Amino acid sequence: MTYDYIIIGAGITGVTAARLLQKSGVERLLVLEAAKEPGGLCRTRQVGDHVLDVGGGHFLCTKYPAVYDFIFEHMPKSEFNYFDRVSRISIEGHEVDYPLESNICQLPPELCAEYLVSIAQNGEARGLPQPAHFEAWCRWKLGDRVTDGYMLPYNRKIWGVEASEMDVDWLHKIPRLDVRQIARACLTRTSDRGQMPSHAGFYYPKAGGFQGIFDAIAAPVRSHIITRYPVSSIEKAGDTLIVNGFLRTRAVINTAPWHPLADSPVFDAQTRAAIAALRHNQLVVSLHEEDYATDAHWLYQPSESLRHHRSFFIHNFAPHSARNGLYRETNLKRWKAGQGEIYAETNSHAYPIPALGWARAIETVLAHAAPLGIHGLGRWGQWQYFNSDVCIHEAMALVKRLGHVPEGAALERSAA
Ligand SMILES: Cc1cc2nc3c(=O)[nH]c(=O)nc-3n(C[C@H](O)[C@H](O)[C@H](O)COP(=O)(O)OP(=O)(O)OC[C@H]3O[C@@H](n4cnc5c(N)ncnc54)[C@H](O)[C@@H]3O)c2cc1C
Repeated sequence: MTYDYIIIGAGITGVTAARLLQKSGVERLLVLEAAKEPGGLCRTRQVGDHVLDVGGGHFLCTKYPAVYDFIFEHMPKSEFNYFDRVSRISIEGHEVDYPLESNICQLPPELCAEYLVSIAQNGEARGLPQPAHFEAWCRWKLGDRVTDGYMLPYNRKIWGVEASEMDVDWLHKIPRLDVRQIARACLTRTSDRGQMPSHAGFYYPKAGGFQGIFDAIAAPVRSHIITRYPVSSIEKAGDTLIVNGFLRTRAVINTAPWHPLADSPVFDAQTRAAIAALRHNQLVVSLHEEDYATDAHWLYQPSESLRHHRSFFIHNFAPHSARNGLYRETNLKRWKAGQGEIYAETNSHAYPIPALGWARAIETVLAHAAPLGIHGLGRWGQWQYFNSDVCIHEAMALVKRLGHVPEGAALERSAA
C-alpha cells in the first residue's frame, strides 16, 4: 500500500497534523515514533503523589483563538483551571516579579539604582543601531550591569552556549520595554501585565498534567501511531517517497529533528551541511520534595552557583498534586545527580538554539525538502522556538496549504 502521508514523530505537532488530516478524510496515514511512547515534550509522569511534566514547565496559553477551539473541542475547557501567572526572578539574592524590566522598583534601593542607571545608559537610549548577536543586544538594550547580573548568567545556563553565539531574531520571546517605560514603571511602582511577552495567564488541566491535552488530541488517531520506530532514511522513486527502505508514501511530514535523516539519498551536500548547522540543547527535569510557602508558579534562577535555572511549584498550578512537590530544569551540561532529586528525566532535544546562522540553515533544509514532498513542521521540523500552541497553529496552516479541509469549527477560524 502507498500511504498518503507518513508523519515522523508523535509529539503534539505530529498528532495534531494526523488529527487534522483525519478530519479532512485522509485515511492512509501513518505516524512513526522513535520512542516507546508518544507525547514527546508534552509527556507527564505520575511519580508517587506528584504530577511531573517531564518536558519541563508546560502551560497552555495562546494568541490564536482557533488553537483554543481545537484544544477545547478535544478536551473541554471545563477540565482546565485558569491562573493569572505568578512568576519571579531571583536577582542577586532578591526576588522580583517577572519581567524584571517592569519590576525593578522591587529591588533594594542600591541595586535598583544600579540597574536603572545601566538601562538609562544603554545603546538603544543613545540611538546606537541594534547589534547582530544576543550578548551585544543585551548590552545595547539593558546596559552592562543588568546584562552581567541577570541576562548573561540566565541565558548561559538555559541555552548552554554563550550569548555571543546566538542570533537576535527570536527576541519576541522576551520583554521589549524601552527606557521610558522602564523608568515610568519604576517611579510609579506599577507593573503592566500587558508587557508580559507570553503567558500573562494560563490554563492547566484539573487532573493529571499537560499530557492530558496531548492524549485528548491523540486519542482518535491512536491506531495510526507506531512506536519504537525511528526513521533514518527517505528516498525518492518516481512520485513516491520510500521511508526506512520500504514504507511507501506520497508525502512526508517531518516533526522530528532532521539529523538522523541527513544521510538520506534525497538530500544533497548543501542540505546535509545545513542540517549539521542546526543546534539544540538538552534539559534534565528533576523532581524534589521540599516545603514551600511561595504563591509563585515558577521562579527564574540566574545564579551560576545553582546548577538549575528554573523551579516550578507544582501544587500552585496542579492542586491535585502533593503540596511539597517541585521540579527544576537544568541544562544537561550543568547537571550533576545527587542534589536531592527523587526522580529525573533527560530531554535529548529541548530547545532549538537560535545560534548565529540558524535561520538560513533551516530555510535551506525546508526549501530543498518541500519540492520533494517532505514538509518540515513544528519545533524541530521548522527548527524554531515554538510552544505547543504555535505547533498546532502551524499544523493547521500546513494542512490547509496541502489542500485539505478538516471538518469542524476549528478549521474555519484557523483558515480565516
Ligand atoms: C522546558 C520547556 C518548556 C516549555 N514550555 C511550554 C509551555 O509552557 N507551553 C507550551 O505550549 N509549550 C511549551 N514548550 C514547548 C513544547 O514542548 C513544544 O512546542 C512541543 O511539545 C513540540 O512538539 P513537537 O511534536 O514539535 O516536538 P516533540 O514533542 O519533541 O516531539 C517530537 C517527537 O519525534 C520523535 N522523534 C525524534 N526523532 C525521531 C525519528 N528519527 N523517528 C521517529 N520519531 C522521532 C520524538 O521521540 C518525539 O516524540 C516547552 C518546551 C520546553 C523544552
